[in-house]
Amino acid sequence: MGLYRDEAIVLRTQKLGEADRIVTLLTRGSGRVRAVAKGVRRTTSRFGSRLEPFTHVDLQLAEGRSLDVVTQAETLSPFAGRIGSDYERYTAGTVMLETAERLVVEDKQPALQQFLLLVGALRAMCETGRPPAQVLDSFLLRSLAVSGYAPSFDACARCGLEGPHRAFSPAAGGMLCPGCKVPGTASPARETVALLGALLAGDWDAVATTDLRHRREATTLVSAYLSWHLERGLKSLAHVER
Ligand SMILES: [Zn+2]
Repeated sequence: MGLYRDEAIVLRTQKLGEADRIVTLLTRGSGRVRAVAKGVRRTTSRFGSRLEPFTHVDLQLAEGRSLDVVTQAETLSPFAGRIGSDYERYTAGTVMLETAERLVVEDKQPALQQFLLLVGALRAMCETGRPPAQVLDSFLLRSLAVSGYAPSFDACARCGLEGPHRAFSPAAGGMLCPGCKVPGTASPARETVALLGALLAGDWDAVATTDLRHRREATTLVSAYLSWHLERGLKSLAHVER
């Protein structure tokens, strides 16, 4: 059995047997990995508390035939405690973990950009004063972009005509010019479209100057865009106060 080290965010845990758990990880080097953590539900476990969702850990794993086995775990950033104590952070963070798991479609395929986006978003929620709802929206847009679903908030998503445009269509991939507009598009405020562009670019100075009405409208459009690109709506999204 080969041993390897990797850095990971714990996405999810499931009970296995009497005392074990299966942990789903997003790792820096190997993408999504499912591994067995033995004995972690016993109070005497050496690393049980380090393998909770949101925790950023340094791991040693042993390669297994179906699932790998966690043999060592050291906490790098205790995001779990700081996120779990705040309802708004917790609900936003839960959507991030679930989206990251869904957007990385295959186990053990490197997904470095997705990993870096997730670590960055969890850190931003814990260590900056940025509002969790906007950190989440920015994370979702950027995660979709690195997964090949980059939305266009300036040029027309269909013909490339330079914007700004007024019509938004999740199915078309963003804003549409008057010539490409299809029935059933949303017509968000100009400020909302600019905010969506700033969230995608990570331009927090621009985000900071926006008002609540446009933030809420942007959140609705990000949700619509995300839902369109995943086969079914994320179940955790229903709990975020939108
Ligand atoms: Zn067009």
